Amino acid sequence: MTRLFILILSLTFMSCKTNSTQQTLTSPTVYGDLINSQKLKEHLYIIASDSLEGRMTGSIGHEKALDYIENYYQEIGVQGGMPDNSYLQTIPGSYFQRGNDFPDSYNLLGFIKGSEFPNEVVVISAHSDHIGVRDDGEIFNGADDNGSGTVGVMEIARAFKKAEEDGNGPKRSILFLHVTGEEIGLFGSRYYTENPIYPLDNTICDLNIDMIGRIDPDKASNPEYVYLIGSDKISTELHEISEAVNTHYTLLELDYTYNAPDDPNRFYYRSDHYNFAKNGIPIIFYFNGVHEDYHAIGDTPDKIEYDLLEKRAKLVFYTAWEVANKEDRLSID
Ligand SMILES: [Zn+2]
Repeated sequence: MTRLFILILSLTFMSCKTNSTQQTLTSPTVYGDLINSQKLKEHLYIIASDSLEGRMTGSIGHEKALDYIENYYQEIGVQGGMPDNSYLQTIPGSYFQRGNDFPDSYNLLGFIKGSEFPNEVVVISAHSDHIGVRDDGEIFNGADDNGSGTVGVMEIARAFKKAEEDGNGPKRSILFLHVTGEEIGLFGSRYYTENPIYPLDNTICDLNIDMIGRIDPDKASNPEYVYLIGSDKISTELHEISEAVNTHYTLLELDYTYNAPDDPNRFYYRSDHYNFAKNGIPIIFYFNGVHEDYHAIGDTPDKIEYDLLEKRAKLVFYTAWEVANKEDRLSID
């Protein structure tokens, strides 16, 4: 990290604490602390419940999940991100390449308008779909994949909304983007980037969460970690901000194992951030790695590490906070 960068970052933090001339600005921890394991757990026991039947793209269960998220945003005052302030971007069934009878499905957009640079948009994304029900009727609840990312985004939205209500809203706009169709081919994020509601030219970054509630067996002896993928690929500055906020607030081990260009898992290409990255938009992919219940019926909410989920969601929140509130637009290499 450069000396200049440390200076800029510390100024941003300091101004949040000491500026009292225009409005009472507060440390971001006032809002980050709102993200808590109990709330995340309450949401996740609904999102990953049997009644949502594994949230297969286009299914009734998936639409129930979207109803729950939309109702929550209405309740906390986060408006829809569509041009008429509604929440759903409809994707025609034909787009999913699964035959003529495949139903329409939906991306869900929550939005908080920036106070100084409203046209510049920070995207925080997570896919809301999972893989449904097996032939024998067993349900894939997808609590980690990607109930964990879904509820993380919901709570990050609540924290930003409270900040806005206190007069500390983000300078740049934030789009809370719950994409569909990930499990069947990253379709929702691809559709969004082909039909963006906010121009990609002014899309500052995408912080994408896909599985942040479990522990990789390889990390059992050091569970306070998260794998970060892609953070340094397009914007070195984004990578440096991510590192700095972690040092300042969350103190997780940021593990870059899967960021290696020759990593055989190719995770960089395997979740929704990739549709932003391929358009030159800086991204970070937050991921806990795979485990015995990955894409298995054992991915249930009772096995989620809620304190760790909270901490990882906070890392995303503080990174978004810094990118959204910094004086200068995030630079691209
Ligand atoms: Zn996933």
